[in-house]
Amino acid sequence: MTRIAIVKKRECNPAGCGGYLCAKVCPVNRKGEDCIKPSPINQKAQIDEALCIGCGICPNRCPFQAIDIINLPEELQKEPIHRYGQNGFALYSLPTPMFGKVVGVLGVNGIGKSTAIKIVAGVLKPNLGRTDGSEAGYDELISFFKGTEAQNFFEKVRDGKITTSYKPQTVDSIPKQFSGTVKELLSKADQKGMLDKVVELLELEKIVNSDIKSISGGELQRVAIAATVLKKANLYIFDEPTSYLDIKQRIKVSKFIRGLADAETAVLVIEHDMIILDYITDLVHIMYGKEGGFGVVSMPKTTRMGINIFLDGYLKEENMRFRDYPIKFAAKPPVQKAGKDVQCGWSGVQKKLGNFSLSADKGEVYKNDVIGLVGENGIGKTSFVKILADVTKPDAGKIDGKVTVSYKPQYLEGGDDLVMTALGDALDKYDAQIIRPLNIKPLLMKKLNELSGGELQRVAIALCLSRKADLYLLDEPSAYLDVEQRIRVSKIIADVMEHKGTSALVVDHDLIFIDYLSKKLLVFEGEPAVHGSVAGPFDMQEGMNKFLTGLEITMRREEEILRPRINKPGSQKDREQRSANKLYYA
Ligand code: SF4
Ligand code: SF4
Repeated sequence: MTRIAIVKKRECNPAGCGGYLCAKVCPVNRKGEDCIKPSPINQKAQIDEALCIGCGICPNRCPFQAIDIINLPEELQKEPIHRYGQNGFALYSLPTPMFGKVVGVLGVNGIGKSTAIKIVAGVLKPNLGRTDGSEAGYDELISFFKGTEAQNFFEKVRDGKITTSYKPQTVDSIPKQFSGTVKELLSKADQKGMLDKVVELLELEKIVNSDIKSISGGELQRVAIAATVLKKANLYIFDEPTSYLDIKQRIKVSKFIRGLADAETAVLVIEHDMIILDYITDLVHIMYGKEGGFGVVSMPKTTRMGINIFLDGYLKEENMRFRDYPIKFAAKPPVQKAGKDVQCGWSGVQKKLGNFSLSADKGEVYKNDVIGLVGENGIGKTSFVKILADVTKPDAGKIDGKVTVSYKPQYLEGGDDLVMTALGDALDKYDAQIIRPLNIKPLLMKKLNELSGGELQRVAIALCLSRKADLYLLDEPSAYLDVEQRIRVSKIIADVMEHKGTSALVVDHDLIFIDYLSKKLLVFEGEPAVHGSVAGPFDMQEGMNKFLTGLEITMRREEEILRPRINKPGSQKDREQRSANKLYYA
């Protein structure tokens, strides 16, 4: 098969297009054959891929952009491992768990990473591309993967030698499925009798008696990871284990997950934070394809090579260019480049909020600045910005310059409005600068509460940046976005600030994103929920040095692509950088 036709069932609206417009314009239909006809199941358009000649007329004429005709790479001659029905998404190949190793999966959103991992976890039975509803048996899968690592894996699955424990991507649904305390939930999962140890390792002691419905996103994530590892298994799968976690927690959780892999245990991880993926995995599979159309899993690569290949956009062995531009990093920390005019400033700020106290010495934000805010969760980042915006009055100290703030919160809520209605004027005004680069157009006719996490994030960023304000605060804009989207968002933020002559403060825990986006850093230190102090803004070198000191890690730039990497503790680079007190890039 060299071509697949995708019909997006939600978008296809035969009554709205005047009655199967696609079939009317299809040259094959016009010759009297049934290339496009109504599906007997749901009356949506159904395309016969064997008859389609790939003329490209129907995708252009469908008023709802419901059709995609995809010419598959020539190298991809195999049948898919799974297809979501006729004219549905197709997945090619699978990632392979390996005993004693942590294997990662790296790719953009919408190309089947979660589907692939669900098949490996045994949650979804693959159909080898058959659309008659029949599932593939293990013997079929074994012969499908003959001669590869996956063959061995599925032989073990068939022989009942694999027990899987799986942490799904979204943890937000746990409180809807379970009532009770954290301890009650973990006790149910605890087949190993290690509840107390895991609670201690993941620092859950303070919330162990809390109701599961009352804990934060980051706490929920750690509870979900704890429940996963408390189950007896020899394959542990983690789908995005670091969402909602701050960098300190990310590193802790990474070490914990790494420690699970041994001669009898395999670990598989999907993760968009490349620093963490780099830190946690031995090998990675790259996934590429077309969002909503198809996804292909590459052969495994060593992590360093795999991430570099992903950033480069070209798989040499497979002779496959999957992005037409490479993602590049700068050789030096970004040079301080801001406007001359001060946007706002502060001095001697003190604020008590319940049991939490915040202090901020002295600092200024210039017009055109993009400042990264780094620090643990619960250390006063949002409270500080509220003080700058005059939403909260400080108990002591002074704020210079009155600023209006446009705010994108960390947790997003979708209402009943259409995306088109929510964005209003911004659609025309910022078409080239925000709407197109964030690929908002395909979402316009959807309601906010129908969007996925990543889609809602893109809309929320567009909304925040398109409002009129002096200061833009974006709280965790990278959450649910893939690596390419994160890089794109950082460019959009810089571009909008430059264009408007305004400034942005960006709270995020993905250090590659912060490194890519920020001109300066504000560093928050202290003890979460007890006290926080704000220092800076610093230039990147100084700010990161201060921040990394608190985290007890050092970072270097990878030699080829210059992307930031965490040094192995105690390695030569780590020791050299520590003695030179240059924790961020030697
Ligand atoms: Fe109409 Fe588009 Fe559906 Fe074809 S795919 S029936 S043109 S809405
Ligand atoms: Fe018909 Fe295929 Fe052309 Fe669409 S792309 S109009 S299905 S031949």
